[in-house]
Amino acid sequence: MEQQKINIAIDGHSSAGKSTMAKALAKELNFVYVDTGAMYRAATLFCLRERLIESNEIDSKKIEHAVKRMYIGFKYNPKTEQPEVHLGGSNVEEEIRSLEVAKKVSLVAAIPNIRHKLVELQQRMAESGGVIMDGRDIGTVVMPNAKLKFFVTADAQVRARRRVEELKAINPNVKFEEVLKNLVERDRIDSNRAVSPLRQADDAIVLDNSQLTHEEQFQFLLVHARKAMASE
Ligand code: C5P
Repeated sequence: MEQQKINIAIDGHSSAGKSTMAKALAKELNFVYVDTGAMYRAATLFCLRERLIESNEIDSKKIEHAVKRMYIGFKYNPKTEQPEVHLGGSNVEEEIRSLEVAKKVSLVAAIPNIRHKLVELQQRMAESGGVIMDGRDIGTVVMPNAKLKFFVTADAQVRARRRVEELKAINPNVKFEEVLKNLVERDRIDSNRAVSPLRQADDAIVLDNSQLTHEEQFQFLLVHARKAMASE
């Protein structure tokens, strides 16, 4: 009998290294990785392109209408060996990582219609199991029945330093203070919004990775994943 694959939820604060860990674990277990942050970033890019955001003002009414024309999905890229996010059929994986998108994404992610549409998509992706999904509301809202849940956090200064290193590849002039301010602000908005705020699921395993290497984090996740799969 083929073993039913479990689902794994990884939530936590901004730039805590969730996606790096999730990708490595998905590769090891031969699971599908779903980056839900990329979906909210693609939705933000859509709103920016459609001029639905003016400075910090969001026209929620117009967005609710425009959402019907928003097509977000993933396509596997054999070169990177990862699923990459597409908006209206075009690959936007790089564009969504800009600071411009990062500055608006938490505002867009707080709009109920946007969340409703994306959560539905995410739940469909998880239907047949074998999915590792990272985000903010995965263990609480998207996959409340996931067999294994993690909540990842780290000191904000450490997270900002790591993020600066990543962003340097697309913007060599990136400033530490700006990145730190952005991630603290995103955590604040994400934790305080009315619809599915960022919070730790009661049954999540907490991982503070401020002092851990990638390998140590990976081993931590792998041990728990193997245990959860064995007890299935
Ligand atoms: O994971 P990442 O930092 O790319 O997510 C970008 C933003 O998308 C978050 O700051 C949050 O506002 C939003 N998000 C969300 N729910 C998720 C994943 C991301 O609200 N499940």
